[in-house]
Amino acid sequence: MPPEAELIQAKLDAFLRIAKNNEQKQFNFQQYELNLLNCTGLFDLLSLILEQHRDQFQLSEVTLLLYDHQYEFQRLLDLHPKPASWRNRLFFTDKERALTHTFNILPKPRLATYSANLHQLLFPDHAELKSVAILPLKRRNKLIGSLNLGSRKSDRFQPNIGTLFLEHLTAVISACIENARLQERIKQLGLLDPLTGLNNRRFFDQRIAEEVTLARRNNSPLSCLFIDLDHFKQVNDTHGHHAGDLALKQASHIFSDSMRTSDVLARYGGEEFVIILADTDSDTAYDIAERIRITIANTDFDINASEPLTLTLSIGLATMNENTRITTTSQLLESADQAVYAAKTLGRNRVHRSH
Ligand code: GH3
Ligand code: MG
Ligand code: MG
Repeated sequence: MPPEAELIQAKLDAFLRIAKNNEQKQFNFQQYELNLLNCTGLFDLLSLILEQHRDQFQLSEVTLLLYDHQYEFQRLLDLHPKPASWRNRLFFTDKERALTHTFNILPKPRLATYSANLHQLLFPDHAELKSVAILPLKRRNKLIGSLNLGSRKSDRFQPNIGTLFLEHLTAVISACIENARLQERIKQLGLLDPLTGLNNRRFFDQRIAEEVTLARRNNSPLSCLFIDLDHFKQVNDTHGHHAGDLALKQASHIFSDSMRTSDVLARYGGEEFVIILADTDSDTAYDIAERIRITIANTDFDINASEPLTLTLSIGLATMNENTRITTTSQLLESADQAVYAAKTLGRNRVHRSH
């Protein structure tokens, strides 16, 4: 081949390589964007941003700083145990100034050579970065956080590189974060617990007050069972959070199956449930509680592991009737709570009655 033809061929090859590379980048991006848009909750969305993002775009580090002046994100995320890998990668600030300061007034993407002085706070675990992109997340022109990308390649992020692609990406991520926050808020405001489908605490708080008023008016006994699964943290630690969730769902089915139609069952918190037994004296309530305790202890929980899981629980029982000093909702709940605590200290897997 004449030298000019060789030259042209080499140039063509180079162009083709670039085009292929771009095509692959585009494909990666579309995949990632689809996953972002399909996320069903805040927790999944953050996992995607903090974990998949880094791998999909071959980055060394991805961190996220969120403006959370009313601690809403932090409260929402408290419902889930956070993966250890999020430590030092997910930050919150309640000071708007912390964000505006990061962007030096103008909220534009900042691509730069890594400088420990400027960037260490956003990448506490990574001293070996060579270049970084600090990208503002905005909703309706207000800063809601920053997405921070770090690379070990010095030419990955430089001020002269176009940011159109990154701006598009951050616009999608910002919209998804805002959307997930609103979705979570609606879920929380609702009366059902999304994991188990049981009534949630908000529902319970309303109902218990009504039941106490009714019982007082009718002079009928009212019993309350506080149920707390034993050593449940160990289930998560040994088998993972997903297995824990499966066990919680199965346990909640057992509780529902033990109920009469007039009873009220709710998921009170993580692995805590509560049952109100209307028109039920202490002895009858004790029998019901024992039946639940025994059923759970004899159940093989299917958590998709090689071995089924066994669980126990502790129950605190409090009853309001003419003989007890319990006369208000808060006294009833406090007594049931103290009783479950006593059941724990007495060795767990037992029902304890408040006296
Ligand atoms: P104890 O016998 O004293 O009650 O021990 P425990 O570990 O059950 O008690 P603790 O209250 O310390 O921990 C409760 C654990 O329940 C913490 C958390 O890991 C787990 N948990 C709470 N909510 C959920 C949930 O929705 N899903 C899963 N998988 N685990 C949860
Ligand atoms: Mg507990
Ligand atoms: Mg527990």
